[in-house]
Amino acid sequence: MKRFLTFCFLLFSVSPSLANTLVLLSIDGFRWDYLDWPEAQRMKRMAEQGVRVNQLQVVYPSKTFPAHLSIATGLRPTSHGVVDNYFCRSDRSDCYRMGSGQKDPDWLAGTPLWTLVEQQGGRASTFFWPESDAKFGGILPTDYRAYDVSVSPSAKVQQATEWLSLPEADRPDLVTLYFSTVDTSGHTYGPDAPETKAAIAETDYWVDRLWRSIQDINRQQDAEISLIVLSDHGMSAVDPRQFIDTNTLPRPKGFRRVNSSTRVMYYRRDPNADVTALAANLREASNGRYRVVSEETLAERHYTRHPAVADLIIETDPPRLFRHGGARGPDLRGMHGYPATVEDMAAFFVAIGPGFSVGKVIPKAHQLDVYPIAATLLDLPLPDGVVSEGGALRDALVAPIRE
Ligand SMILES: [Zn+2]
Repeated sequence: MKRFLTFCFLLFSVSPSLANTLVLLSIDGFRWDYLDWPEAQRMKRMAEQGVRVNQLQVVYPSKTFPAHLSIATGLRPTSHGVVDNYFCRSDRSDCYRMGSGQKDPDWLAGTPLWTLVEQQGGRASTFFWPESDAKFGGILPTDYRAYDVSVSPSAKVQQATEWLSLPEADRPDLVTLYFSTVDTSGHTYGPDAPETKAAIAETDYWVDRLWRSIQDINRQQDAEISLIVLSDHGMSAVDPRQFIDTNTLPRPKGFRRVNSSTRVMYYRRDPNADVTALAANLREASNGRYRVVSEETLAERHYTRHPAVADLIIETDPPRLFRHGGARGPDLRGMHGYPATVEDMAAFFVAIGPGFSVGKVIPKAHQLDVYPIAATLLDLPLPDGVVSEGGALRDALVAPIRE
């Protein structure tokens, strides 16, 4: 075993760096149409010099952890295992909350891009991405950071620039970055609020700074660094007067109830608990405010056959949401998590750099298309089970995708 490990070490340490480098930057909660707002003018200019997807379709549910992991693994939430930001499983007594994979990787499945890079002897450097500090298949990125919401955008851009400025042999093949303030402001003040516009403007500035640094490195070091900027989901305005107080919902014995704001999930904890009776009670109490999601609808959304899928799910539409205590406080004016049929949930996608086409506009693509495109750019083999072969995003690449 020891000799084998030494062999691997030698093999990896002498393997040449992959030719291309990809920077994958996520702006949490950046709705598809924000790109056309004056606050995002720098990123819009980048889109004009690269590739833009007008609406990036999102997975179900359109929540931060499921969506980021779908982008990172190319798998749907019921395949990578993170089916919501908070959920339980029929085969476990504890429940997942954002970041649980760091302590217990059994919550997670799939091969994120950073793991794929490391498996092939490359170097991945993550300055935040949901679950990027967790071990997938026992592997961590070469560089990673434990999530800390207080880290400034400038610190992230500076660190990314330092990594990318390394000599070619040491330069990471993949760098991920994550910016959160557009989402935070969107939730607190609403998508159209001045505070959200200010967060968009600030993020726009730092993305542009990063792209300028990348261009300098590409020129001065003859590097081939490309940049993808995207989001996990959009944001809908919500109306506190229409919030549904979860205290008013039936809560029968034998079920564990989990409030996910746009939906409420009931997990049967007692095998004798009656799901049909609960569904009937919920329908009766609804008054048109929410609906019980049918098996058929869940199947259409590829949200079945997984121990984390609840026994019964109800959902609502914007401007409503479920909240403990109902309209308590004026501090919640935006939400996401609704199905992809709500247009506000669509995300955005911009790609620029030597790997990408110039001036290309793609009307629609899917989050699941990102993984095969990124893997192709990095010349990495696709793991089994990846859902998409690139879809509409195949047009984004300069070099054609492998068949
Ligand atoms: Zn998010």
